[in-house]
Amino acid sequence: MPLLQFARGSTQQNPQGGQRAGMPRARLNESNYMTKFSDLNLNPLLMRAIAEEGYDTPTPIQAQAIPLLMEDKDLLGIAQTGTGKTAAFALPTLDFLLEFPQKRRARSARVLVLAPTRELAGQIADSFRTYSRYMDCNVQTVFGGVNINAQRRSLQGGADILVATPGRLLDLVGQKAVTLGDVEVLILDEADQMLDMGFIHDLKKIVVQVPKDRQTLLFSATMPKLISDLAQQFLDKPVRVSVTPPSTTAERVDQGLYHVSNNDKLELLFDVLNNPEIDRALVFTRTKHGADKVVRKLLAKGLSAGAIHGNKSQPQRQKALDAFKNGNCKVLVATDIAARGIDIDGISHVVNFEVPNVPEQYVHRIGRTARAGRTGLAVSFVAEDERYYLRDIEKTIGMEIDVLPKPANTTVDLLPLPDPNERLFKPKGPARGTGGGGRSGGGNGGGQRRPQQGASSSRPQGKKPHAAGKSTGSDGGGKSGGKSRGGRGNGGNKQRSLQGARG
Ligand code: AMP
Repeated sequence: MPLLQFARGSTQQNPQGGQRAGMPRARLNESNYMTKFSDLNLNPLLMRAIAEEGYDTPTPIQAQAIPLLMEDKDLLGIAQTGTGKTAAFALPTLDFLLEFPQKRRARSARVLVLAPTRELAGQIADSFRTYSRYMDCNVQTVFGGVNINAQRRSLQGGADILVATPGRLLDLVGQKAVTLGDVEVLILDEADQMLDMGFIHDLKKIVVQVPKDRQTLLFSATMPKLISDLAQQFLDKPVRVSVTPPSTTAERVDQGLYHVSNNDKLELLFDVLNNPEIDRALVFTRTKHGADKVVRKLLAKGLSAGAIHGNKSQPQRQKALDAFKNGNCKVLVATDIAARGIDIDGISHVVNFEVPNVPEQYVHRIGRTARAGRTGLAVSFVAEDERYYLRDIEKTIGMEIDVLPKPANTTVDLLPLPDPNERLFKPKGPARGTGGGGRSGGGNGGGQRRPQQGASSSRPQGKKPHAAGKSTGSDGGGKSGGKSRGGRGNGGNKQRSLQGARG
């Protein structure tokens, strides 16, 4: 089959004629799954739940992060989705709630998780519910695009875990439907995406309302400078855990590309997807309009496809996602932000119908496949005016992406191989392509970073360094001794001083 001829570990022969220079096709080292869950000292109620989920061994981010989080350290986690990072933060957090149970307080939460999109928020909440199924734990979710009143009501009795998108959370705080003064653990997931979406000011407004003496976790797939600045502001001497170096491509994803003109992309896409070996393909466009156009074309040709982007209502998005998950729809066409963080098993192929103009976005996109140890293929359609971005991506990921053999079933003429010494210039103005949208793709379509005003490196007013008795670790992870969970081989001090700190 055309796509699958792109065998893993194949040589760098260029099928479009010519030899690619010998940059390695990087696939990161297979992970080192040494630790066992039983080594992590998690509560048996959690162990029971994860055993039922079929988790045998912790993933690398879990093996590294869980012990540190159980010592109440702040954590800066660099991990892509698909690495198991949700369990890496959910399990120690639930373990903490089990160890220090408390009566729920009205309109408050003990754990606050912030996520960029409603889909991701929903998935995180689902994971918390799964892992906490044998304990008494109330998980609530709030996000925009749906009626706020039901969310107000759901918060009345208080929550143990509140998973929220920043904007809707602030609306609810403004309406006094929830206060953040009881939050003991603050988790910022997909922080780079939250910044991309312009949530920096919302995040700052939220963080100052959370007690200073909290545990803070920040996860990001990439580590641009803005994220390290943010970490400096929000985290207290964080330990840094990284399962892949910043901006490397996801593990186990084989990558390839076609040089193809913009006019021929739709045709090529159909031919590429019209392959029985493809179970589930996620196709990325830069713009919402572009996503719709691709779906129309595929449907017209008899291929089951759905779109997910910011112009779709929440029920429409959910419907498309469900159809994709349950196999009724083979192709999901998405813009970057809509697809971010979506956890769908069995995506065999990711197709970059348009090359992202922010290299980190490429890493996110291809991370949609090869999740949790599976393999996957990522294919990019590169038009002439996208070669600049391709080179940017290749520089960022430190490897050259293979040119794939022309699919046997296509009549599309692929473009000749570009001269490797060709001088490339950054395209000016709005990107061309199916959508005709700007490079940023608007609020939902693209990966262009908004200017991050006010992202200074100084600590915000509300964050004070932890007080005396800290500095327990040699790796920058020192923290107030009083905040430490005892009874885990570190002195037996059962007191966690968060409550005390709040008075
Ligand atoms: P995440 O990176 O958190 O989105 O997780 C990706 C997928 O990996 C989810 O479907 C999880 O259920 C799964 N997963 C997480 N941890 C493990 C584990 N230790 N063993 C097997 N699967 C896991």
